[in-house]
Amino acid sequence: MDRKTRLSGKNRIVVKIGSSSLTHKYTGYLNLNKVEKLARVLCDLRNQGMEVVLVSSGAGAVGRKTMGYMERPDDLPVKQALAAVGQAKLMMTYQKIFSEYNQVVAQILMTKTTMLNDNSRRNARNTFDELFKMGVIPIVNENDTVATHEIEFGDNDRLSAIVAAVIHADLLILLSDIDGLYEDDPKRDPEAEFIREVEEITDDLQEMGKETTGSTVGTGGMSAKIVAARMATDAGIDMVITNGEDVENIYRVLDGEQVGTLFLAHKNKDFDLIEYLTAY
Ligand code: GLU
Repeated sequence: MDRKTRLSGKNRIVVKIGSSSLTHKYTGYLNLNKVEKLARVLCDLRNQGMEVVLVSSGAGAVGRKTMGYMERPDDLPVKQALAAVGQAKLMMTYQKIFSEYNQVVAQILMTKTTMLNDNSRRNARNTFDELFKMGVIPIVNENDTVATHEIEFGDNDRLSAIVAAVIHADLLILLSDIDGLYEDDPKRDPEAEFIREVEEITDDLQEMGKETTGSTVGTGGMSAKIVAARMATDAGIDMVITNGEDVENIYRVLDGEQVGTLFLAHKNKDFDLIEYLTAY
């Protein structure tokens, strides 16, 4: 099936954006222009009748700037306190900007523990369903204030794949600071070949995705994105990594243009979300 046929007609979309795409590189402050453009595109998708979820990082980054921290602190309670400050501020910004387009948004904070619990997972799914019926855009992040190292998702790439699996999304789009997947780190090897489509996530491919975000604000890296791709595609969901520098890439992806790397869904009949949650 060609890309256009495959990607047109997607209805339930999860878009993930990371802290490094949301903030200015040198100052660390929120890139309001980017946030506005993102909100505009997502509202426009809603206007087209799509169901949209935004998975957004930035709690830690915004909290640090708000409280005057120049670096990421090591101390867990400090990190969590900063995330508590930052999450509220991040949502305030989203709410303000989305409301300019008359779009209601909702905050959903998830933890690994709640996702492992059948009841909580079902409740989360029901909440998403209800929000979709109401035409609301859920904005999801990890509940950083309660997640400790042992029980955290760790990065929002994985979290977005879990959200996509829980709500049976049609497509997961990861907005990255890179165009997609290369055969090698393009920062090291400028000749590295770009991979347009991945049919199967082999162990070699997993090896290839090295921890190279090149940023001090995000946590994902390419290997986390490949783990996310494994979860999403095993759950029967197509996934695309594309450059978040231009958020209109979301339109290009949905139009089936050759942007980003497309990971093809293949329903794995043994897919078990709980297994993924405990294994990664
Ligand atoms: N949940 C974290 C935050 O909002 C970010 C995790 C990530 O960067 O993937 O700050």
